[in-house]
Amino acid sequence: MVHHTNCPLCSSGDLTFHLTCSDHFLTGEPFDLYRCSSCNFVFTQDHPGEKEAVRYYDSQDYISHDDSAKGFPTALYRMVRRVMLAGKRRLIIRLTGKTTGDLLDIGAGSGHFAGAMKQAGWNVTGIEPGKKAAAHASSQFGIRMIDPAQMPDLTDRSFDCVTLWHVLEHLHDPFTYASEILRVLRPGGKCIIALPDSSSHDAGYYREHWAAYDVPRHLWHFTPGTLKSFAEKSGFYMSGKRSLPFDVFYISYLSEKYRGANLPLLSGFLKGVWFSVISFLSKKGSSSMICILQGRSA
Ligand SMILES: [Zn+2]
Repeated sequence: MVHHTNCPLCSSGDLTFHLTCSDHFLTGEPFDLYRCSSCNFVFTQDHPGEKEAVRYYDSQDYISHDDSAKGFPTALYRMVRRVMLAGKRRLIIRLTGKTTGDLLDIGAGSGHFAGAMKQAGWNVTGIEPGKKAAAHASSQFGIRMIDPAQMPDLTDRSFDCVTLWHVLEHLHDPFTYASEILRVLRPGGKCIIALPDSSSHDAGYYREHWAAYDVPRHLWHFTPGTLKSFAEKSGFYMSGKRSLPFDVFYISYLSEKYRGANLPLLSGFLKGVWFSVISFLSKKGSSSMICILQGRSA
């Protein structure tokens, strides 16, 4: 169990209780979220250490890492994933200004995104701690996969782009990763981070049932403001921010399920539409955001 007596982001000792969430997805165990009064960073308090955390990923349903899950919501998720993969590929090309290049995908899972980029002509390396998922990425998509412990072996300034799709919030040592990313990026290279926005309308509405808190797998609950601080403390600056339009539907569906709704798919969809509309009108994000980071010296 990891107990934080100081803010993991700004080191302030002024921490206050924020919310108690449950592991709705797997164990049902409660976990407290704490907030730093100084910088507003929200994090999971008393979370499992890196070795203990493995058992919280042990489920056939954890579709980020497992490709054999069944059922209509999963089929729907996969259909949306195909559309999103095409969108992510276009985004990488637009942000880097390159149609091909060297890409490092951290937390590559089963390799669907890495595979799509490889197919588009990119030279892709994937980092994934899950052995089964890494083997799938390698055999199915022919991706060069490495273990997180091998990241220091990567050559300095060898990537045009580093991506973390819903990964940063899982990392036990995000600052170590950030300094490694800074090291391997070429001058002008982009680091693209997709992650939940805990200041979104849906997070405020669902509170302890908000599926994107996903305790204890999610350790850090960033907002645009705290992600910007994290970037700056790590030698980056945030050069842009976008929203991920589909995530709100999936998160709302899961959140409706967690709060015991009778028709979670329908109510999740309707709430997803509603959150999308108010996010658009208020210019505030919904569910998830994409932050674009660049090295300060680049
Ligand atoms: Zn703080």
